Amino acid sequence: MSDLLARLREQGWRLTAQRRVVAEVLDGEHVHLTADEVHARAVHLLPEISRATVYNTLGELVSLGEVLEVSTDGRAKRYDPNAHHAHQHLICSSCGTIRDVHPSGDPLAALPPAERFGFAVSGAEITYRGLCPECRTP
Ligand SMILES: [Zn+2]
Ligand SMILES: [Zn+2]
Repeated sequence: MSDLLARLREQGWRLTAQRRVVAEVLDGEHVHLTADEVHARAVHLLPEISRATVYNTLGELVSLGEVLEVSTDGRAKRYDPNAHHAHQHLICSSCGTIRDVHPSGDPLAALPPAERFGFAVSGAEITYRGLCPECRTP
């Protein structure tokens, strides 16, 4: 499990019932949910939670730096609680399953100065693609 709830408590983030439900839905490993998926799961735990509340709470979590926004292939943005351990993503091109992966080496260091065009480069996002085990078996 990730420690999203514990991290939020440490930050003194006021855990209302609604915020807690959003954080609970996002907690875990390899979690990359769209806002609509977060809302659908949150409703199971707290039927009255509105879509607007879920969207606002996700926005706050991103501003706090405790949840990452991941954009993949022009699909809806996904929310990722694994915000403190640098990682990249491995995506199934058939079903869209996403895994957190940790390539060896520093992706920033992999870009030679001649390829930086004078930029102060601050980050890199790498997406690996392929077929997951379920989609590989006919
Ligand atoms: Zn798949
Ligand atoms: Zn991730």
